[in-house]
Amino acid sequence: MSHNETDSIRIQTRSDQREHSSPIYLTSSFTFESAEQARAMFADEIPGNIYSRYANPNSSDLIEKVCAAEGTEDGIATASGMAAMFGSIASLLQQGDHILAARSLFGSTHQLLTRVFPKWGITSTYGDISDYLNWEQLVQPNTKMLFIETPSNPGLEIIDLEWAGNFAKAHNLILVVDNCFATSYLQQPAKWGAHLVTHSATKYIDGQGRVIGGLILGTKELIKEVQFFTRHTGPSLSPFNAWILTKSLETLAVRMDRHCDNALKVAGYFEGNSEIETVRYPYLKSHPQHDLALKQMKAGGGIITLTLKGGGARAQRFIDQLRMVSITPNLGDTRSIITHPASTTHSKLSPEERAQVGISDGLVRLSVGLEHVDDIIKDVEQAIEKSK
Ligand SMILES: *Cc1c(COP(=O)(O)O)cnc(C)c1O
Repeated sequence: MSHNETDSIRIQTRSDQREHSSPIYLTSSFTFESAEQARAMFADEIPGNIYSRYANPNSSDLIEKVCAAEGTEDGIATASGMAAMFGSIASLLQQGDHILAARSLFGSTHQLLTRVFPKWGITSTYGDISDYLNWEQLVQPNTKMLFIETPSNPGLEIIDLEWAGNFAKAHNLILVVDNCFATSYLQQPAKWGAHLVTHSATKYIDGQGRVIGGLILGTKELIKEVQFFTRHTGPSLSPFNAWILTKSLETLAVRMDRHCDNALKVAGYFEGNSEIETVRYPYLKSHPQHDLALKQMKAGGGIITLTLKGGGARAQRFIDQLRMVSITPNLGDTRSIITHPASTTHSKLSPEERAQVGISDGLVRLSVGLEHVDDIIKDVEQAIEKSK
């Protein structure tokens, strides 16, 4: 058994060209040696590539690498993170089923649960993270799935994965964990009993702001059902994007180490600045679930949320004064990024819904990049001063 870092670098399908780096398989279909071979592959009697909507060597490499890191058996690569969230639910649930979900979720996932799935008779109930030990009462006879995100976007709330695994088992629920913020390098939900792990590969897995992509990983049994769904509904990842993500995985570990080191230092700087009202980062002792973060995450990740004195207007001024940090909704990039969730990524939530998950008008989300940490601190420091 190699270490995950090694697997992420070394796993590769080889062609007969003796290439060292992975080639890109830009082909929509694959040829058969005979009519009989075509029949047998379509019938799943023998393995092999058929058509790139089903599978392609680039997406297979990507899945094999991520599975080695996540400790999952199999997976599917999708065209976006949202295709992965949608596919993981739509492939396994049907009309009349119910989802129990943590209230603090990515904005579009929230839209899926509240506005898309109810059209097909799949309903959801939200549980508050601060109260999850009492979620027993939220389970209905038709509850089939427990859907959580930890750390959550943007609240950085942390759910005890061991608790979630046991809870799902006790109530016979499929546990789905969106592992986008932590990545497989910092946290492996399958170890704690998650049946499916989903990713927006757009974020840290690409890590360089180039590609939209997603992943659904899990047990062979469930992935077989997901595979049936994705084969016939078509959210496949392009071979080119799969290739980019596969190469990106080779540097995930070193990038995450630096993201985490930089973020811990920047979070510490915010904590010592009197203009900052609140700062939240999983590996700060002041984080309300710091112990849980230490238990299930190898490091604190690259995202910090904060509020400045002066509320929403101050947040806007602070953002506008940044010189280096980019204003854009992405995260997990080499470049540091600032986002104002209330007016952008979470603007489709009602003010009450935002309040319930702690997204005030003054909240800003900083995705700490790989620039020299002194330059990041210098930029936020001058923006804090100028926005007074
Ligand atoms: C960005 C994000 C998604 C959606 O992924 P896309 O690749 O943008 O479709 C889902 N969950 C979380 C936590 C995210 O940050």
